[in-house]
Amino acid sequence: MSSWWRDSVFEAGAVDELQRSFHGDLIRPEDPGYDEHRKVWNGSIDRNPGLIARCAGVADVRAAVRFSRQADQPVAVRGGGHSFPGLSVCDRGVLIDLGRMKGIRIDPDAGTARVQAGVLLGELDREAQEFGLAVPSGIVTHTGVAGLTLGGGTGWIQRKYGLAIDQLESVDMITADGEFVTASEDRNADLFWGVRGGGGNFGIVTDFQFRLNPVGPYVMAGPVFWAMEDAPEVLRFYRDWIADCPDELMTIAVQRRAPALPAIPPELVGRLIVAIAACYAGSVEDGERILRPLKEFGSPLLDLCEPKPFLAHQMMFDASFPHGWWYYVRACDVAALDDDVIEIVAEHGRRIVSPISSVALWQMGGAVARVDDDATAFNGRKAGFTFNINGNTKTSDGFDEERRWARDYWSALGPHHTSVYVNFLMDEGEDRVRQAYGPDKYDRLKALKREYDPTNFYRLNQNIEPD
Ligand SMILES: Cc1cc2nc3c(=O)[nH]c(=O)nc-3n(C[C@H](O)[C@H](O)[C@H](O)COP(=O)(O)OP(=O)(O)OC[C@H]3O[C@@H](n4cnc5c(N)ncnc54)[C@H](O)[C@@H]3O)c2cc1C
Repeated sequence: MSSWWRDSVFEAGAVDELQRSFHGDLIRPEDPGYDEHRKVWNGSIDRNPGLIARCAGVADVRAAVRFSRQADQPVAVRGGGHSFPGLSVCDRGVLIDLGRMKGIRIDPDAGTARVQAGVLLGELDREAQEFGLAVPSGIVTHTGVAGLTLGGGTGWIQRKYGLAIDQLESVDMITADGEFVTASEDRNADLFWGVRGGGGNFGIVTDFQFRLNPVGPYVMAGPVFWAMEDAPEVLRFYRDWIADCPDELMTIAVQRRAPALPAIPPELVGRLIVAIAACYAGSVEDGERILRPLKEFGSPLLDLCEPKPFLAHQMMFDASFPHGWWYYVRACDVAALDDDVIEIVAEHGRRIVSPISSVALWQMGGAVARVDDDATAFNGRKAGFTFNINGNTKTSDGFDEERRWARDYWSALGPHHTSVYVNFLMDEGEDRVRQAYGPDKYDRLKALKREYDPTNFYRLNQNIEPD
């Protein structure tokens, strides 16, 4: 391990001084555990922070912020570590790691969940489902609640209950000057507007309070697979079938090679498939009725759509996106699945080479689209579908080719691009961040950034520059 940054970043004794009042762990490059804790989910990211501050609570977060400011060092903020471009780790600077802050308090009577910033989606689901409740979140349980929520938060119950931010009641934050602030509809409402989509630009959120809603515990859910050759017919049927579907139904169309998982028969593994994965967030009986036409369409290769615990469904994609593989993503929203889009999807799906590259085409609409577009910084509520095109490999071998495939697929969709979901961006520059928010919201976010973080202290994120 090279050590060019060691001892050059912080004044002698400064870290020892911080250590005296710090309750969590301070990990220097020479300390045991450094390599483990600088790793993020995306194995293609390899960065070396000058210090890792694993905070135990709010006081530690404030101390780490003050320390970084004093040392004039950038900070990276880590919740679950799932940033696609690895924005939650830096070279030099201080990595403020919130992963130890795991507090969750479900209040079933009030219907609320109080969640600290290091909690992962599966940990929150587990506590909330104990009471038959859930917060809308994402589709891979080892993702962080923090980063996902601050960008919006799309998932299996979004069409019924909206995005994660649509059930967010308040946040506690540490601003760039180390101040503690609560933001909600009643307190610092401008800031509350901004954090609901504006990511980590305005400060470090230490606590989230969400409203909970009933889900499960059993749901009708899972994927139905067809051969990729059948993609045009399957997707045209799918488009027409979901046109009038109830909000309880959420679907994601998936293209990939069938993965080597216990549920997949060996003869299917590696075969190019198109799948429609569904989750019906209502009664199992209604779900069976609503999903019957999908299950009966054409000649499915495999049907894994069945009654199951909501918790099990939430984990469905976990094994396909483990930590440490090399991931690259291109994303865009489109208004509709018209015939031209379907042709592009079918053509580029046939070109998938890597056994672990995949496309997820998210159905939007429902409760997401019914929230007033100006109510939050999140943009793209009117999108018809959101593409997440993943060019992945297990190591660096073949990564360039997979990236090229993802870019080509995305470019072919160019004439249909509308917005893009900020949490599905790589490190793509200011124009793409502006595209994610749209020009009006982007200007409003810039004004907010000038107010709360005029020096752009929090800049390792999908950055909204103050000037
Ligand atoms: C496998 C996988 C599945 C995904 N599935 C979904 C999905 O279903 N739905 C969806 O909406 N998104 C999904 N995403 C995208 C995901 O929302 C983003 O990658 C998100 O940033 C991850 O949050 P995190 O806390 O794990 O990330 P981190 O890498 O820890 O953080 C990402 C960024 O968020 C900011 N941040 C994190 N914590 C805080 C905090 N406490 N305060 C202030 N800023 C903070 C920082 O700017 C940081 O750079 C997925 C990503 C992956 C890798």
